[in-house]
Amino acid sequence: STESLTTLAAELATADDLELLQGAADLQRYSKDAYDYSPILQPQLESCRADLVVRPLTVAGVERLAAACGRHGVPLTLRGSGTGNYGQSVPLEGGVVMLSGALREVEHLDPSTGVVMVQPGCLMRDLDQHLRAHGRQLRLLPSTWRSASIGGFLAGGSGGIGSIRWGFLRDPGHLLGAELITVEREPRRLQLDATEAEALNHAYGTNGILTRLQLATAPAVNWHQISIDVETWGAAVALLQRCTRSAVELHLATLLERSVLQCLPAWSGPESDRHRLLLLVAPDGVSTLARLAAASGAVLHDLGPEDLGGGQGLRDLSWNHTTLHKRSEDAGWTYLQMLLPEPELPAMEQLKQRWGDALLWHLEGVRQQGAARLAALPLVRWSSTEQLDALMRDCREVGAVLFNPHVITVEDGGLGVVDGDQVAAKHRYDPEGLLNPGKLRGWLESISSPGCPGSPHLSRG
Ligand code: FAD
Repeated sequence: STESLTTLAAELATADDLELLQGAADLQRYSKDAYDYSPILQPQLESCRADLVVRPLTVAGVERLAAACGRHGVPLTLRGSGTGNYGQSVPLEGGVVMLSGALREVEHLDPSTGVVMVQPGCLMRDLDQHLRAHGRQLRLLPSTWRSASIGGFLAGGSGGIGSIRWGFLRDPGHLLGAELITVEREPRRLQLDATEAEALNHAYGTNGILTRLQLATAPAVNWHQISIDVETWGAAVALLQRCTRSAVELHLATLLERSVLQCLPAWSGPESDRHRLLLLVAPDGVSTLARLAAASGAVLHDLGPEDLGGGQGLRDLSWNHTTLHKRSEDAGWTYLQMLLPEPELPAMEQLKQRWGDALLWHLEGVRQQGAARLAALPLVRWSSTEQLDALMRDCREVGAVLFNPHVITVEDGGLGVVDGDQVAAKHRYDPEGLLNPGKLRGWLESISSPGCPGSPHLSRG
């Protein structure tokens, strides 16, 4: 209620480790993320507003904030850099938005294992830079890695640059532990091991406030940039697969259909009427890629070692940055995300036949449960909800597994299945359901019907 919010704001204003932002511009700015990539989410979310924005300067400040929200029953939505595409950090029920940006310390890097302990608000660019100074690097990065926070990636992202080698964030082995703060009248600060922390991985900040992450890293590599232009789509897909299944170390393997190239910025490379592969490869793999390209009659451009400073590298054309570039040219485009069925080519050809130029292919080589697979983030010309639904139906019909970017719950953006451990964690760490309300469908089902997965009656406690 307005009364609890006024009391809460007055109480928090007395703490010197909490910054309060209450101006209309701040409330609007921090209530939005990159959901405008979805013409379906846009109208659903644009009127959502925080009543108060709070930036804790210390972990004790986070505890103070969690206690105040717990006492007054005020919703609390966590925010890193607000670059999520599904409204993950949008406060559906108003209340407080917490900014994690001041909690950005890299606390410890174990030189023998490369395991890093970091606060959630640390920008991934800063974390990667810190790691590189010690001979390590992040395993997985979204293409927004320059602006995204590590906590936001862990809680709201899934994979990206590096997924060709390291799979996805929820695969066991990336998140090795976490510290969290519960939301209740007297919040607890808990140290979770890898098994316990798993329930907070990709949970949109619905079941605990992360204040420290323990993550595995990889040895640093000075990645080399290669682009390869290929005449036909079939040959391009075959070459992509030959590259991803060869014994070279890759960090990125993107394939763009020829008409996608036209929307890329001028710095992206020479104009071409061919399909283009974009690869980040370890220096000792360059000659092998050249050999594979020559064998398929393709034109290879060696762009030299990556410059991580400039924001104009091949990684800045990959993953959802491809969508970004297309939308900067024409905002009437949106996208889908899917794992393609095997064999990929007939499925893609079938969809292309039905949807023509309203569907432009963008593929990413990934490791899915240990196997080399192709993910697709096709660009889709927006016309209506019915058309998008029909396209998704067609994709499922040819055997693709969709990860729908036009929905707001954790489950519906994934495989549609409730993760009982995520819901059980919410019952333990956020018993009043104040964290990011409306985003964990399993929680809503568990409180309306106690026999559901994760409900306290069924959970492991
Ligand atoms: P936010 O959007 O601020 O938050 C994400 C989620 O994390 C929210 O639910 C929030 O509540 C939760 N959260 C934040 N802090 C905490 C905390 N301390 N404790 C618990 N929960 C918390 N994503 C990918 O996975 N791969 C990509 O390649 C990729 N490319 C993108 C490209 C573009 C152009 C855009 C616009 C987005 C892309 N994304 C991608 C989505 C997004 O940028 C990333 O997932 C990014 O890592 C999110 O980080 P963030 O700091 O912006 O998080």
